[in-house]
Amino acid sequence: MKSVTAYIGLGANLGDSAATIQAALSELAAQPGIADCTASPLYRTVPIDTDGPLFINAVARIHTTLEPLALLDLLQTIENAHHRERPYRYAPRTLDLDLLLMDGIEMHGERLTVPHPRAHERAFVLRPLQDLAPDLILAQGSLSALLAACADQAIQRLDTV
Ligand code: AMP
Repeated sequence: MKSVTAYIGLGANLGDSAATIQAALSELAAQPGIADCTASPLYRTVPIDTDGPLFINAVARIHTTLEPLALLDLLQTIENAHHRERPYRYAPRTLDLDLLLMDGIEMHGERLTVPHPRAHERAFVLRPLQDLAPDLILAQGSLSALLAACADQAIQRLDTV
């Protein structure tokens, strides 16, 4: 497949979430078939549709020659590696990776829906996406209009020193 731009959403809320997100970004950038991985800043967000500790979220823009399902396989491999328990020193960690958008791709399959069906209503996706691509327009509207509609969702940019 020719190289296309895709956006990946990353989230973690157990263990050292910021370290988990940074590790996942490095792993993503190192995969064959993925190039030019650019990460947004990290954000701290209140869980939506779930309980538990605050989340750390980010979005990555990549260029990829992978087919959508091959990219999903790869994201799930990275997720699984982080779900592994490390019984001696580290608690289990959760990591969720979502394929948010892929240039020219619209699909509704058993395993994969692209664009991601809930991306447009989540500040933890829209805000970092806006850092990477301020002029991006989703099917549901501009990022700023969509962000205004979820102003009730608490989100705080992490200081990066
Ligand atoms: P979750 O546990 O919420 O991360 O959901 C993971 C499931 O959603 C997996 O079984 C995927 O096959 C499915 N899925 C459907 N569309 C997407 C997408 N755009 N990105 C990631 N997972 C997806």
